[in-house]
Amino acid sequence: MFIVFEGIDGAGLSTQAFLLQDSLEKLGFKVVLTKEPTDGLIGGLIKAALRCEWKTDPWTLQILFAADRSHHVRHYILPALKEGKIIICDRYLYSSLAYGSLECDYSWLKRINEGFPHADILIVLDLEPEIAIRRIGKSRLGLELFEEIEKLRRVRENFFRLAEEYGGIVIKTNKSIKDVQREIFRVVEEKLRESGLL
Ligand code: ADP
Ligand code: MG
Repeated sequence: MFIVFEGIDGAGLSTQAFLLQDSLEKLGFKVVLTKEPTDGLIGGLIKAALRCEWKTDPWTLQILFAADRSHHVRHYILPALKEGKIIICDRYLYSSLAYGSLECDYSWLKRINEGFPHADILIVLDLEPEIAIRRIGKSRLGLELFEEIEKLRRVRENFFRLAEEYGGIVIKTNKSIKDVQREIFRVVEEKLRESGLL
């Protein structure tokens, strides 16, 4: 079971990915929590570019995201899935499509991300950009390249479209962490039952 969290920055992806891992482990599942960009070398290049520590262009950046993903999929995600583990991924290729298509051609982005496995459960966490920015502001120093509000509005719309295209579930996060957690758990529980894993 491959579960992916997506949404704009500050929507609560990392918080909820961690809480879902905890809930599933309590049920006895073996769970791997992972994220993109990864903590590997290519992920480091990407994070440095997002922090403006080196300058590149949108196309090179998206190719780096795809390269980071290729390594992540082949060396972590697929092996863990083969071992019967549940993978929870905090951002994945849908982020490349949602953020990348602000500057790069959508069909080109799809092409360079072809062949990567799609999520069994795609969860799009949705929050008004103004609230997301406020939440980030409280917890992080400095805003990264992508975090301007206008951009976030367009990215949010892109995530709505992606949820339709890929059968994702949109969950609003303008409520308490606990309420969001419960809603996510209900969705995942149902899917696990459908798949005979629960
Ligand atoms: P993301 O990974 O989507 O960027 P985080 O999970 O890091 O977001 O959350 C950003 C900030 O918002 C953190 O300080 C987190 O504690 C807080 N937060 C997350 N979910 C909620 C919520 N439902 N209500 C209030 N604050 C939240
Ligand atoms: Mg996060």
